[in-house]
Amino acid sequence: MERRTFLKAAGLATASSMAGAAVSVQPAPQWQRTARPSDVVVIGAGAFGGWTALRLREMGHSVTLVDAYGPGNARATSGGETRQIRVGYGDREVYSRWVLRGMELWREREREFGLPLLSPAGRLQLATDLNPGLRASRDVFTRLKVDHELMSASDMRRRWPQMEPGEMAVGLYEPGAMIVRAHRACLAVAEAAARKGVQLVAGRAQPDRPTGGTLSQLALQGGGAVSGASYVFACGPWLGRLFPDLLGRKLQTPRREVYFFGTPAGDDRYSCPDLPVFSEASHYGFPSVDGKGIKVCPVGGDTEMDPDNDDRIVTPFQVRRSREYVARRFPGLKDQPIVETRVCQLENSVDEHFIIQRHPGWDNVWIAGGGSGHGFKHGPVVGEYIAERVLGRRTDPALEALFCVKDANF
Ligand SMILES: Cc1cc2nc3c(=O)[nH]c(=O)nc-3n(C[C@H](O)[C@H](O)[C@H](O)COP(=O)(O)OP(=O)(O)OC[C@H]3O[C@@H](n4cnc5c(N)ncnc54)[C@H](O)[C@@H]3O)c2cc1C
Repeated sequence: MERRTFLKAAGLATASSMAGAAVSVQPAPQWQRTARPSDVVVIGAGAFGGWTALRLREMGHSVTLVDAYGPGNARATSGGETRQIRVGYGDREVYSRWVLRGMELWREREREFGLPLLSPAGRLQLATDLNPGLRASRDVFTRLKVDHELMSASDMRRRWPQMEPGEMAVGLYEPGAMIVRAHRACLAVAEAAARKGVQLVAGRAQPDRPTGGTLSQLALQGGGAVSGASYVFACGPWLGRLFPDLLGRKLQTPRREVYFFGTPAGDDRYSCPDLPVFSEASHYGFPSVDGKGIKVCPVGGDTEMDPDNDDRIVTPFQVRRSREYVARRFPGLKDQPIVETRVCQLENSVDEHFIIQRHPGWDNVWIAGGGSGHGFKHGPVVGEYIAERVLGRRTDPALEALFCVKDANF
């Protein structure tokens, strides 16, 4: 295999801004069982909590970051290899604007951490026609001056002959979309936070039922406690279980299965950046990154998942759906094996907007979650935003209303 091809298959040729940067090998920070009292205790070291802790520390505050299983762990919603960063959000322009700011922050952090986190990939949204969602994304792209291209089936066949669009007559291509290494990024954020003075505590926090007033300390399962002036619960799919009165019926945790299909030996047509991230109503997926194989996620079949206790084993039904999809959309991969699988869960709010608000029962407790299948990319911006809310800074009232927990019949 040529050197260029090998680097691409290994996902190294495309790390956007890493040219010349050394990959840092630093000792992993130690997670303790106790911590000194701090200004803010953040519970959850996923995409929301990790970035919040880092940002608060950089703003000069003492911070404790607590996690039951570790940053981007196998049960967390932020776990796994990769996530997409795309501006296309239909008519939800507020998130498109956040992504544009987030892309700058991701690049800065990639340089700061000295790790390849990002790969320019592009994203192709496929549909049978120019539906309202695609039109809205295209209008936002135009308004925000985001590079894009509306493609016909024959345009797509010419550009990506390894893909057969079939009944998908329209493609909206966003060449600036990226892939981010999810688990690696969560670890890097926690490590940077620790280097800057955040105390890392391993343990499961167990809040009592709110009795009004303020929360003074937070017990850890198995003994011990942490305390702070404020608390941010960024516990992803666990939030509904931690705060059943507030969130029990307003956050759902549907199961998702993720498949990696092998690519033919020596063939990089299915690897990033030769194939973009692809998305359509029934499935979405990623080109092969780091030699993992092409990633395919069937959408739908929303069984609730218990993030602590459920086995993460794929089902014959979704295996069949994924195989049929790959054979249809990528005929050259028809006989390739499934080389890896993952089972994870989303943490969907009823309107798929984030939930970032003060707990109504405690005036020093904040809830941050509801990533709803799109939160990872926003980590750096969400962290800044949550930090500002917790510190009582002025933020946009329209966003505050948008990020309030809502009932199912909102
Ligand atoms: C299959 C799939 C694909 C996705 N694709 C994308 C994508 O392409 N782009 C994108 O932007 N987003 C995507 N998302 C969404 C994104 O991954 C999530 O919105 C985001 O990772 C949520 O992060 P979080 O920090 O809120 O939750 P989590 O990552 O779940 O973090 C919560 C943390 O809290 C800890 N915790 C929980 N309870 C306690 C407790 N009591 N005490 C101590 N610690 C506790 C957990 O151990 C965990 O580490 C996807 C999600 C899934 C499932």
